[in-house]
Amino acid sequence: MRVRKIFEAMFLLEDMREIFRNALPTGLNEAQESEFQEYLERLQQVLDELKAGKGTPLKFITDRIELRAREEEFININPIQPGGRLTAEARKALIAYGDGYSICDYCLAPFKLEKIRRPPVEEFHAELAEFVGMDAVRVFPGARRAFQAVTSAILEKGDIVLVSDLAHYTEFLAVEVAGGIVREVPSGENHVITGEALAQKIEEVREKTGKMPKLIMIEHYDYSFGNEHDVRGVGKVAKEYEIPFLYNGAYSVGMRPVNGKEIGADFVVGSGHKGMASAAPSGILATTEEFAPVIFRGSSVQGDISGRKFPAKEPELLGCTLMGATLVTMMASFPKVKERVKHWDEEVRKSNFFCEEFLRIEGNKILSEFPRKHTLTKVDTRESFDKIAKTHKRRGFFLSDELKKRGIVGEFAGSTKVWKLNTYGLSWEQVKYLADAFKEIALKYNLNVQ
Ligand SMILES: *Cc1c(COP(=O)(O)O)cnc(C)c1O
Repeated sequence: MRVRKIFEAMFLLEDMREIFRNALPTGLNEAQESEFQEYLERLQQVLDELKAGKGTPLKFITDRIELRAREEEFININPIQPGGRLTAEARKALIAYGDGYSICDYCLAPFKLEKIRRPPVEEFHAELAEFVGMDAVRVFPGARRAFQAVTSAILEKGDIVLVSDLAHYTEFLAVEVAGGIVREVPSGENHVITGEALAQKIEEVREKTGKMPKLIMIEHYDYSFGNEHDVRGVGKVAKEYEIPFLYNGAYSVGMRPVNGKEIGADFVVGSGHKGMASAAPSGILATTEEFAPVIFRGSSVQGDISGRKFPAKEPELLGCTLMGATLVTMMASFPKVKERVKHWDEEVRKSNFFCEEFLRIEGNKILSEFPRKHTLTKVDTRESFDKIAKTHKRRGFFLSDELKKRGIVGEFAGSTKVWKLNTYGLSWEQVKYLADAFKEIALKYNLNVQ
């Protein structure tokens, strides 16, 4: 109830804010003033209800758009969401900078996003490059658009790009739009990419096609198992063969420390909405002094009638990228993000604690590498919860029902076979509660728990 009342109060404040947007700069007129007072009274009522924890819970923001309160009302174990949960600072920034091109108030010549000083976008870029151990950085609408900027800049039709056989689909698509060809490096039975496997694949491609791959894209942690891949080994092999290496940090940048140069990466890609506590779509592409002039080159196109040219605009970015709410949430979260990566070990410890407890339930398996090196984990409950699902009238949904009753959401609803969860950002208290909930459900359905 209190969560819903908080939203209701915030929405009333927005309605009050709206009055000022429609008023003269000199102040409110009589009608506006009385409207303002009405809202103020309603707000007072809502605050009283908030205090008492009573009233009618708000369900909708506006026609058919539901309130989204799952981060307040539940423990959310969705595999892709936790790293992109906004900080309180980002949510405040979002309220203030939600208007379209809000970031552009003080955009001065040469009219480049990364040169804006107020709010400190330029400073943010400088710190961001340092944060990932690279020379230059730009923000992008998601990791995928960052992949695309690289493939678009360095591939020609028919060029070969090596990715992992666990690569995210967006890597495939980024190669596809640039006219390239994807070849996969096998992760083997351990589901881990190694430098040796990469070297072998390079040799294989060279033998079969007579060509060298133009680009290597490997993720530090894959989206499927959340396994850690040997990116340093990959970086070393990439250097030996002189093939540019794109380090895909969708599941690492903003969650753990990342130093691109130490890894041997030519490009570091991060996802704002997956790992940097930012609104979607947001992400980063960082690179070296060597590649910055290639990827972040100025435009050279010219109009035949007007004769116009845009040398300050970067074509791979289509000029500007994150123009308002997305960028400002990234910036507002950044101080906390810089701090939180220092506590990655603790996040991994909580992940392992959860898995150990989860394995006490007879039949449960962890399909990801174990002990865990990440908070994203693939589990197999075919020999435990799925057996219950077979005879339960709600089938696989029995597990989601039971979890929801205990205030847990985010697992793939209805799935009791192979599924994923992510414990990132949960407190010890929450992780313990989560583990207990699974054990409690198991006991309820007569599964053995050690
Ligand atoms: C989520 C994910 C992406 C896509 O990230 P976006 O920022 O949504 O474009 C790419 N690669 C991996 C490994 C991912 O997990």
